Amino acid sequence: MITVLKFGGTSVGSAEAIVRSAKIIAGSEGGRVVVVSAMSGVTNHLIQFLETGNDRTDDAVSVLVKKHMDVANELLSGKLLNSFTEEFDDRIDTLRSLLNDREARFDPYFRDNISSQGERLSTLLLSHVLRSAGRESVALTSEEAGIYATGPPGLGTADLDRTSAGLMMNVRPLISRNVIPIITGFYGRNEDNKPLTFGRGGSDYSGAVVANALDADCLEIWTDVDGFMSADPRIVPEAIMIDEMNFGEAAELAYFGAKVLHPRTIEPVRMKHIPLKVRNSFRPDRPGTLIHNLRAPKNEMLRSVAMKADLSIITVSSSEIAYRPRMVARIIEKIADAGVILYAISTSLSTIALLVHNLDVKETLRHLNRLDPVDIERIDVKSNMALICAVGDDLLRRCGVSAEIFGAVHEADANVELISEGASDVSLNFVVPTDKAVAVVRSLHNKFVGE
Ligand code: ASP
Ligand code: MG
Repeated sequence: MITVLKFGGTSVGSAEAIVRSAKIIAGSEGGRVVVVSAMSGVTNHLIQFLETGNDRTDDAVSVLVKKHMDVANELLSGKLLNSFTEEFDDRIDTLRSLLNDREARFDPYFRDNISSQGERLSTLLLSHVLRSAGRESVALTSEEAGIYATGPPGLGTADLDRTSAGLMMNVRPLISRNVIPIITGFYGRNEDNKPLTFGRGGSDYSGAVVANALDADCLEIWTDVDGFMSADPRIVPEAIMIDEMNFGEAAELAYFGAKVLHPRTIEPVRMKHIPLKVRNSFRPDRPGTLIHNLRAPKNEMLRSVAMKADLSIITVSSSEIAYRPRMVARIIEKIADAGVILYAISTSLSTIALLVHNLDVKETLRHLNRLDPVDIERIDVKSNMALICAVGDDLLRRCGVSAEIFGAVHEADANVELISEGASDVSLNFVVPTDKAVAVVRSLHNKFVGE
């Protein structure tokens, strides 16, 4: 039995949080492998340093030294404190020389290298705290553990086969010897042995990659909320905890609404049917949300209603788009060139409507304007739109669901501006003006969530 436990930044953000997380690890049963984020605030601090482009390396480093050494001095003593300080100083020296190295800045992976330094420090701290509690534990960097990644800087994807081979060699033997490995989240090593990050918040994904690669029996994501809820409680005070849902539902919710889990976390565990639990490290007595393969029987039509505001609909009009075979492809290609996320898409004979974030409108238009003018009649933008995402297992296989849902939208006095239905059988997504979104979420929640 192998459990992978992933702890987020707030779960290792202070001495108390680290003690609580160490207790959770020590109290869990069977083989354990731990993946951790940087202490909260550390990745932001490093990225800010990179962005301001300032040269005050010493200031930047001393903030990190203080943050980690304060905790170490509080929780460790004697030999363990000495061994921690020695290894920590080594890593800090490496970081300092990296920051001072003018040449290194031209390396396309420099940013990945710097922003992943926080994880190298937090793993060291957590493994020493576990050792001080009498457990055998070692800190491993992603390079040492054998987490491999491919892709452009800042946008890595794990190479699951190579990672599996790497972890079998470097991590498995530790588990058999009852040693608890503490592995850095957020990045892997690329083909050239350079650190490549998985995008902001990517440690959740690292946890799932490790679980996949080790064929774990369970992945536990320990964070600072109780789990997924049926709606944002700031909008719907009667929102309830979701104790169980399937991978598809969780993926939609993670993507569109709740910031509980990084959306990329689902796929690596879904592939191998590994159950995933979201738990609160600050309240370990809470059961959390279990996400697995089963289609859990339920009476209510919806499991959850999420919304995402600050979106815009860009409508491209051109006569007979439908009869010009490559037209849609050309439009989509421009979106890809602009590098923006497309939240929904809908087409008619002569228009194609694209849903993007307000902040991406300018860049999207800049690229769409490069299309051949004979192809385009008009481009319109409607801003202040919100995407509503109604999620329920098997939702769209139920007859008459849309009629019921849009009936409730009508009662909230909202006009539906765009619909995206049928792409996923667990969610119905549609767009309403932002000023109606809260009323729509409440109306759907009141009618269709809960027993
Ligand atoms: N430390 C990284 C970040 O803040 C990764 C993570 O926390 O998941 O984005
Ligand atoms: Mg996180």
